[in-house]
Amino acid sequence: MANNIKDNINQYLEEFSGKATLVAVSKTKPNEDLLEAYEAGQRVFGENKIQEMTDKHESLPKDIEWHMIGHVQTNKVKYMAPYVTLVHAVHKLKLLKEINKRAKENNRVIECLLQVKIAEEDSKYGMDAEDVDKILASDAYQQMENVKVVGLMGMATLTDDETQINNEFAFLKNKYDEVTAQHKEFKILSMGMSGDYKIALQHGSNMIRIGSAIFGARNYN
Ligand SMILES: *Cc1c(COP(=O)(O)O)cnc(C)c1O
Repeated sequence: MANNIKDNINQYLEEFSGKATLVAVSKTKPNEDLLEAYEAGQRVFGENKIQEMTDKHESLPKDIEWHMIGHVQTNKVKYMAPYVTLVHAVHKLKLLKEINKRAKENNRVIECLLQVKIAEEDSKYGMDAEDVDKILASDAYQQMENVKVVGLMGMATLTDDETQINNEFAFLKNKYDEVTAQHKEFKILSMGMSGDYKIALQHGSNMIRIGSAIFGARNYN
């Protein structure tokens, strides 16, 4: 990778062209960095904290699409409901209910992905694959008019073991295909980050979330 943001964006946009949407993961990064990506043509940004995303939304160009990629606290949904484009990591029905309620207040339909737990670590959020079917078939979901589940998201184990990453992405792709056969509204399979996106692409990912390989390492202090 080159070490400037514009070149990095251009390389990924070219590499993913026709295959996957690039989500530039800009969490912890200052507005100047996002603007540099914006000037290279990037319009989709991913954040993992609602407060930080909302601040950035307010100060940056209005044609940016904001994706919430992190774990969502139910009591903060109202802050992003007016503008968020896609919520990647819905992990339970209760959260979907809140998103539906807040989207309705804003006269919007908010698209969401269900996060499936594919990694072996306990620390990763997400539901079991069977819960995807349960949620989609539930009366509660079927009555929601202001959220639309349009796909699945997953994070592989952080490991150098490519076989394991392959297996985890293959599992999610398989689940995605199975659900898509029943749900024509399904269109997004969000998997792959800086370290494992090539494997994710091989398994049919069509949305890739890249942070550090575009913007450099994050500093959490
Ligand atoms: C931070 C984050 C990313 C980006 O990670 P990098 O390794 O920096 O590319 C992708 N997805 C999620 C859910 C994240 O929280």
